[in-house]
Amino acid sequence: MHTEICTRVLLVEDNSSDAFFVEELLSQIPDEHFDVCHVECISEAQATFEHGTMPDVVLLDLSLPDSNGMDSIKAIHNAAPHTPIVVLSGNEDPSALRTAVQVGAQDFLLKGENDARFLCKTIHYAIERQRTERELLKLAHYDSLTGLANRALFNDDLRRALARTKRQNEVLGLLFIDLDHFKAINDTLGHEVGDELLCKVAERIKHVIREGDVAARLGGDEFTVIIEGIEAISSAEVVARKILQAIATPFTLSGQEVRITPSIGIATFPAAGNDATTLMRNADRAMYRVKEQGRNNYQVYSDALNASGLARLNLEQNLRRAIDREEFLLHYQPIFDVATGEVRAVEALLRWNSPDHDKLVAPLEFISILEQTGLIVAVGEWVLRTACTQCKAWHDAGARGLRVAVNVSPRQLHGPNPVHWIKRALKSSGLNAKYLDVEITEGTMLEHPEISAVVLQKIRAMGVGISIDDFGTGYSSLSYLMNFKVNSIKIDRSFINEVTTSGASSVIVTAIIQMAHGLGLRVIAEGVETESQLEFLRTQGCDEFQGFLISNPIEPEALLDLITAM
Ligand code: C2E
Ligand code: MG
Ligand code: MG
Repeated sequence: MHTEICTRVLLVEDNSSDAFFVEELLSQIPDEHFDVCHVECISEAQATFEHGTMPDVVLLDLSLPDSNGMDSIKAIHNAAPHTPIVVLSGNEDPSALRTAVQVGAQDFLLKGENDARFLCKTIHYAIERQRTERELLKLAHYDSLTGLANRALFNDDLRRALARTKRQNEVLGLLFIDLDHFKAINDTLGHEVGDELLCKVAERIKHVIREGDVAARLGGDEFTVIIEGIEAISSAEVVARKILQAIATPFTLSGQEVRITPSIGIATFPAAGNDATTLMRNADRAMYRVKEQGRNNYQVYSDALNASGLARLNLEQNLRRAIDREEFLLHYQPIFDVATGEVRAVEALLRWNSPDHDKLVAPLEFISILEQTGLIVAVGEWVLRTACTQCKAWHDAGARGLRVAVNVSPRQLHGPNPVHWIKRALKSSGLNAKYLDVEITEGTMLEHPEISAVVLQKIRAMGVGISIDDFGTGYSSLSYLMNFKVNSIKIDRSFINEVTTSGASSVIVTAIIQMAHGLGLRVIAEGVETESQLEFLRTQGCDEFQGFLISNPIEPEALLDLITAM
């Protein structure tokens, strides 16, 4: 059976005998049908583009009553940029024909040299070549996963949009969107689900922005949106809020419900910069501020944010000096047995005795800077060595069996030999590994899949315990954490805080304790401040607790007094 191909041809030719000749040739080809529409000038051709169906190919004579030479090609190309053009030429000058291809034609035919098969081949070849060119262009400009603009097209678009905005004295908003904990989804549910999620996020972003606004994926889980023609910064905030809302609805991916949140940084022209590079940098900075402050939100870049950047620089320099000047010290918070009230362990908590402050500086004010600058590696090693040495001294003073817990940051677990410093601290202090626990936050586990089960296995193999800190604040499941062979979990103090006032928190805490016990894990409650909270934990069978109810973090001497007094 033959399936007849129908190709729509627009023939633009003012010489009627030439036109007749071409139509004749096209009618001679077996098994193929050419639906030829013949017009005699450019303006007639333009009219068919506007009112009729688009042709598959245009056969174009260059000298026409209303246009001549390359102008004819340009006129057709502008009116129908995706339609291939084959030039019909009486001119044999090869350089003119080359120019024809440069200004938008796919191919050319010399009049009088045509037979039917050759004409047919040329037409199909032109159509195919045009399609390939379009595909290549798409590959070069669009993200193949989500179909959004890619980085290259985004950069061009941003520059163009900025130029327009400047001319029209308007405001432009640039949104930098990064998904929170996306790595964890890729890691637990697989890359296919991760890709599916990225596509659906892209769809939702596209859905909330206006037709003319550009959305792009720069790579990974980073998206950008350009909002043009706005009158005030607040319009960009409106879009950011809409995106937050759109992404908040859970996604159904391969039959399961998945939640994800974005962190959005906003930079606007002219307030946050005059050129594309500055705007990008400042939108990125604002996005990082959102991450620092707990994610799932947006932040507009401002000079104040930049000023706090300067303050930060100062802080960074002071922290560098703090190591050499021995300004760091440790306080210890006792961890009690819920059932007996005895001190089972202590948590070492870092303090900074900064000459610029009258009080000791708490870790939340500087830990993230230590982490970002890498200083945490040196400080963390000092913390571990000091805590192990202190614990050994307590053992020697009679507190046998006391464990010490030390908080560890992701940066400390990188490198070719990620746990050698733990071995070193144990050796130099003489503390038996079984009295040491390292605490890693749930967020760290989620955000740093590279801290693989292998690293944690090495820690366990030394005999050191692993606790998951701030448990309940991420989105991980206990069964996922079981892959890492942890020993205990510390329920985040935000749950303990509400355990007697919020039904939801009490249900969550009860469930965590039951599940953890089912998996053979020890459960520690953080931040116990009231007698009724402790009573609740007692009835639920929680193992250990720490909190202001009995003791703040205190100096080592005070801690020894507390132990011996009990
Ligand atoms: P964390 O590991 O969850 O430590 C418990 C935090 O809760 C401590 O805050 C402690 O003072 C506080 N806390 C204890 N009981 C109560 C209570 O009853 N009520 C309230 N409201 N708070 C209570 P701190 O000492 O400010 O430490 C904050 C965080 O800094 C720690 O959270 C830990 O993540 C990090 N950190 C502390 N020292 C180090 C360290 O040496 N290395 C690393 N990487 N992080 C550290
Ligand atoms: Mg901790
Ligand atoms: Mg904690």
